[in-house]
Amino acid sequence: MELPRLVVVGTGVSKKLGDTLLGLELGKKCIVLSGPIVKKLLEENTTASLEESGFKFMWEIVGTSSFAEVERLASLAREEEADFLIGVGGGRSIDLAKLASFNCRIPFISVPTSASHDGISSPFGSVRGLDRPYSIVAKPPLAIVADTDLISQAPHKLLVSGCGDLISKKTAVKDWELSNIKTGEYFGRYSANLALLSANMIMEDAQAISSITAEGISVVVEALISSGVAAGIAGSSRPCSGSEHLFSHAMEIVAPGKGLHGEKCGMGTIMMAKLHGLDYSEIKKTLKLIGSPVRAEEIGASSDEVVKALVLARSIRRERYTILEEAKLTEETSRKLAKDVGVI
Ligand SMILES: [Zn+2]
Repeated sequence: MELPRLVVVGTGVSKKLGDTLLGLELGKKCIVLSGPIVKKLLEENTTASLEESGFKFMWEIVGTSSFAEVERLASLAREEEADFLIGVGGGRSIDLAKLASFNCRIPFISVPTSASHDGISSPFGSVRGLDRPYSIVAKPPLAIVADTDLISQAPHKLLVSGCGDLISKKTAVKDWELSNIKTGEYFGRYSANLALLSANMIMEDAQAISSITAEGISVVVEALISSGVAAGIAGSSRPCSGSEHLFSHAMEIVAPGKGLHGEKCGMGTIMMAKLHGLDYSEIKKTLKLIGSPVRAEEIGASSDEVVKALVLARSIRRERYTILEEAKLTEETSRKLAKDVGVI
């Protein structure tokens, strides 16, 4: 198991970043990685906090998500002899910091500015390849500093996407159980239950999340962190990513850029829950209440794109046994499934 050593969640915690890092005894040289907007927003406070605590650092703007960019950042870290990297942002900066730090074997600190997916704490990073996005095993962050003030300022759509990514653990765990029965794959009850707990927290607190209370935001952030930790315990993304994620990845290929990762996972969960014989209407009701899309048109996708993605999903990651192996969806059965649950 590889787990984060320190998790700090609360209001204003990013302003004490320097102090928090001092306690980890990581060395004094680091590189902060973020996009240009996040830099503009946070540079003043972060700089003050890191300088006060005696850290020497440079701020580097990250480029597009690619293997070349991971290598560039890793080379920079080597040249600068950085002791650790800090990834500040939503998805891309955290993923790039995670993978670059893994490449040069130094720790990385995750400072999420939105709660849109469980990559903020998981040992997996995704990068765009030439043909499709790739998920790569790295190390989990050494520390996570999640400032709920910052996260509450991010567009609500991102928080909603995080909820979709969390609810998807319902079918991900079912797929894992199924694979255990059908292929004898190892099944870890502890990590499976932890992932399910994250999904159930969202189901139970949907009302507080939909009205964007501070408590609701904390629930999503904590659930995303424990879901990433569940992957760290399992040593694979199994508890967090099943057939619904395969659908989301397939949509990325069929209809690139339409809908956020978690939004597509949420829709995928409705359909895969039906295939698993679960109560999909409860999942759909929760997603609706939170404001997460439950119909393809809400993310600008067409019925044909959803059908294509459903047919393609099974071939995305053949070594991962899911309900899609049993359902063997054709164009016709895919259309029927998506219609039956109201996604198209
Ligand atoms: Zn995900």
